[in-house]
Amino acid sequence: GPDTIITMRQEYLFPATAHFYKEPPQIIGGSMQYLFDHNNKKYVDFFAGVSVMNCGHSNPEILKDTIEQLNNIQHTTTLYLTQPMVELAQRLAEVFPGDIKRTFFCVTGSEANEGAMALARLYTKKNGFIALTGGLHGRTHLTLSVTGIPMWRLDDHLVKENIFFIERPYSVGSSYEEAIEKSLQQLDTVLKNHGKNICAMLVEPIQGNGGIIMYPENYLKKVKALLEAHNVLLIADEVQTGYGRTGKMFCIEHYGVVPDIIVTAKALGNGIPISTFSTTDEIAKAYNRPSASTFGGNPVAAQTALSVLNYIEKHNLVEKSDELGKYLKHKLEQISSPLIQEIRGCGLMLGMQIQSANPSITSAEITDMILEEMKDRGFIIGKNGLNRDVVAFQPPLVISKEDIDVMVASMEAVLEKISF
Ligand code: PMP
Repeated sequence: GPDTIITMRQEYLFPATAHFYKEPPQIIGGSMQYLFDHNNKKYVDFFAGVSVMNCGHSNPEILKDTIEQLNNIQHTTTLYLTQPMVELAQRLAEVFPGDIKRTFFCVTGSEANEGAMALARLYTKKNGFIALTGGLHGRTHLTLSVTGIPMWRLDDHLVKENIFFIERPYSVGSSYEEAIEKSLQQLDTVLKNHGKNICAMLVEPIQGNGGIIMYPENYLKKVKALLEAHNVLLIADEVQTGYGRTGKMFCIEHYGVVPDIIVTAKALGNGIPISTFSTTDEIAKAYNRPSASTFGGNPVAAQTALSVLNYIEKHNLVEKSDELGKYLKHKLEQISSPLIQEIRGCGLMLGMQIQSANPSITSAEITDMILEEMKDRGFIIGKNGLNRDVVAFQPPLVISKEDIDVMVASMEAVLEKISF
């Protein structure tokens, strides 16, 4: 029962294991954009397991292929070839931007970023990195070292040497011009002083965990030009933004920039773990020693990913994400509440910045109250941001206008109820 599961959690998981809600719902079923808990309560999912379930929970069209593959061959490692893995690599070459063509398969986002960072070192024969404040790239030693969100960092135990943070170009409520100028200036200074030791800069095209932060037009173009002048690669961390989430197949397409290395994970397997780092022929050659990942490109995950790509194409999920994202954003902007400071993001990756005008309650506490109230009304919503005060909407891309309408109506009622 529910009590047992909470007691067991307290007894056996790490105390630091992060959950949403005072009592996390016990989800026992899912069907496309809907989730069901142990009391058979139905929820509309507006977080998609942090941007993973783009094609919906237990999507029957995709599961059919997964199960067929499970019955054929479950696992081999890259030491032997399987059709799904090479076919997936070929399909990815078709959808990745520019002349990014070759893929290395791993399992998690952290691992793929770690691989991308190793690749950048091998190619440039340099070893330092640049990252943005507010970015999140993983939980491994090196990826956590370039993660710019203080609450996740194990600060005393991370790599510091040759790691440089640049301020993300974001300023709430005031002109972006200054923030862009400052960020580019910092980048220029770091490159001039340390460019000889820096191999790559990591950027999430929209910061997810950092609070749905999108960059102003031309910012990334200018970043790319500065990096190129110093022979520093651009790694696009599309772990959270990839595969239609933002209304483009990959979010970097919004900026007209082609990265040197692209990293993807989460939505590629729609719940089956698979991740990638991919690059051009030339850069891939630099990985000049044998490398293999036990589970990377596993036939079940690869076959599922192929099915995911087919499903996204067949059901126009990229266009749907763009259209429904605009619809949701517009509806959120119509809500009049003193608790909303700003609505940000694009496609179905939207953030609602919460503000508190009352000294007795923080914006993070208000955000938690919104999540609790929305859960009671049957909606699973996310949160993120440096202060955990951004309400995040990242639903499965198969969501409907009706789902959006009922969610926004509930959100309006909740914001009305929680007034300080
Ligand atoms: N990069 C980004 C942008 C992410 O959002 C995440 C996870 N939220 C990661 C990397 C790490 O991925 P994983 O948890 O699969 O290791």
